[in-house]
Amino acid sequence: MRTIIEPFRIKSVEPIRMTSPPERRKILADAGCNLFRVRAEDVIVDLLTDSGVAAMSAEQWAALMRGDESYAGSASFSRFEAAVKRLMPFKHIIPTHQGRAAEAILFALLGGAGKIIPSNTHFDTTRANVEATGARAADLLCQDADNMSSDAPFKGDMDVERLHALLVQDGAKVPCVMMTITNNAGGGQPASLANIRRVAAFAHEFDKPFIIDGCRFAENAWFIKEREHGQSGRTIVEIVNDIFACADGMTMSAKKDAFANIGGWLALNDDELAQKARTRLILTEGFPTYGGLAGRDLDAIAQGLSEIVDEDYLRYRVRVNEYVLERLIEEGVPVVRPAGGHAVFLDAGAMLPHILPLQYPGQALAAALYEEGGVRGCEIGSVMFGLQPDGAEKPARSELVRLAMPRRVYTQSHADYVVETILAVFEKRAALRGMRIVRQPQMLRHFTAEFAPL
Ligand SMILES: *Cc1c(COP(=O)(O)O)cnc(C)c1O
Repeated sequence: MRTIIEPFRIKSVEPIRMTSPPERRKILADAGCNLFRVRAEDVIVDLLTDSGVAAMSAEQWAALMRGDESYAGSASFSRFEAAVKRLMPFKHIIPTHQGRAAEAILFALLGGAGKIIPSNTHFDTTRANVEATGARAADLLCQDADNMSSDAPFKGDMDVERLHALLVQDGAKVPCVMMTITNNAGGGQPASLANIRRVAAFAHEFDKPFIIDGCRFAENAWFIKEREHGQSGRTIVEIVNDIFACADGMTMSAKKDAFANIGGWLALNDDELAQKARTRLILTEGFPTYGGLAGRDLDAIAQGLSEIVDEDYLRYRVRVNEYVLERLIEEGVPVVRPAGGHAVFLDAGAMLPHILPLQYPGQALAAALYEEGGVRGCEIGSVMFGLQPDGAEKPARSELVRLAMPRRVYTQSHADYVVETILAVFEKRAALRGMRIVRQPQMLRHFTAEFAPL
């Protein structure tokens, strides 16, 4: 069959409150044209993020009831640990309340002034946790990624030549080498198994631990199976095992590829480092067999991990984004290609050339999508990255709107509705106006700033 259906039935539903364009115009004005300030119940299709917003399965809800809330040595922890080790064969699995807590612990141990931590691209919380220790976060993304309209298969690869040069020149300052799979900040593009192995080999040649930020490991493994030579006949679990077998540790947000609403972990092979991490964990998160989570959360993650590697799920997951992107490309809408694992990116800079970067074309487009169809996306451009620490403003590298797909939440007709909304806005793009900022905080302004149309 050519039609790829949602590989699940729905047994529990949440109603969507339908709103009209005039109603949404008022909501938007009251929210200072900032979609982070809009209430979720005023949104029709919410594509703000894919983090922590997955629909849990019946088995996950059942697992919540099995949760063992013992302070130490709970059965939930044993199930969680076994589920992680089945996929990622690390010696020490340390639960945390979410991904950034794992990062904070890791970089408190490995970071520090004068250090450099290379990655393909650090996610923003990773970068912030690296920089908070005084270290520098270095993004060494491959050159394929520079061209937004090429369909190169592995735009999340690390530039291994630049990594090698960094290790030769400044190796003494590098405490570990990192890679983010898929590359969230770079559009959800995957890294190839060959590239991951070369990065690991260079790290080990220079005696550095290789740490994977594995938030979207299953989506990345699916792309490897689909696109990498010699991988199509292998199971997702085999590919996942191979990815992590060459690493010395990982950080994880279970709010992504574990179908959980909260949770994360830090995994390590080194006994001494793990000992130090657990000591910090007790200080900031909790005892090492619950780490900031309830026992029931650990069980939901354990069950989610067995479901996320299902090939029917992954085929459908990636296909939704490809489908939306194909329809937009057909109609000439500027987008980032190819489709990422968890999101579709609209190129607002190319779509709205009459709006200057510092009049925030991404914000204007995101607001227009909300007004037109109640679709909530997220500006990734000069609003998010333009404000410098000294208070000056500088245009970002690109002006994008990210439409992130929650896992198992929306159906095909929601995808069609999103496409229709985008095309309706595209049609009247010449009439869209830029924005000015009326009020903003000193940092992380995209969450709270207020805007007005020009
Ligand atoms: C979400 C995310 C994180 C941080 O995880 P939280 O659970 O949100 O703290 C780190 N890295 C990547 C790639 C992510 O997508």
